[in-house]
Amino acid sequence: ESADLRGAVALAHHFLRNVVKPGDRVVDATCGNGNDTLFLAKLVGEHGRVWAFDIQPSAIEKTSALLAAHQCASQVELIAGGHEGLSALVKEPLSAAVFNLGFLPGGDKGCITHGATTIAALAQAAALLTTGGIVTVAAYPGHSGGDDESQAVEQWASGLPPHIFNVWRHRQLNRSAVAPYLILVERRPS
Ligand code: SAM
Repeated sequence: ESADLRGAVALAHHFLRNVVKPGDRVVDATCGNGNDTLFLAKLVGEHGRVWAFDIQPSAIEKTSALLAAHQCASQVELIAGGHEGLSALVKEPLSAAVFNLGFLPGGDKGCITHGATTIAALAQAAALLTTGGIVTVAAYPGHSGGDDESQAVEQWASGLPPHIFNVWRHRQLNRSAVAPYLILVERRPS
């Protein structure tokens, strides 16, 4: 089956499929409609664990219903709160953390992720990565506020020490300059 790498989220899944194994611990920093949470829950399986955050109660409800419909609720801890509180709740080494920034499709477009809290959560997630573990960030420079946030993420990622992290920016060359793109951080094998 072809991967169809049609955008930042599809490309993130492509990397996650290679890294996340049954029994792993992972984070979905922005669960939204629950699609990434379900994808991660299937990868880690019933013996793994997914911590999934969102500040919108409707997102937590949608994700909860989606997981239940796919018999994947038992391995997921849903957290109705900001991902900037990640390190207070998650203490275990992570093989992946997924950030899908911006606003919830079909939801409140005024409720967006913001640079300061996103960077706080990214730093906490990166500190918990196992060697070979990855942080994926789908960045959306096209909406108001999204450009500043994307710049903030790039600045944070640019400053990560290269002997510890491999850091990539993946952009589509045949799309708009403000199309969503992927920033990938890998903790290097020691
Ligand atoms: N991954 C989701 C999916 O597959 O449907 C889409 C996520 S959507 C692009 C971004 C989400 O981030 C929104 O649902 C929004 O409520 C949430 N959000 C905004 N600020 C947040 C924060 N500080 N902590 C956690 N979630 C936040």
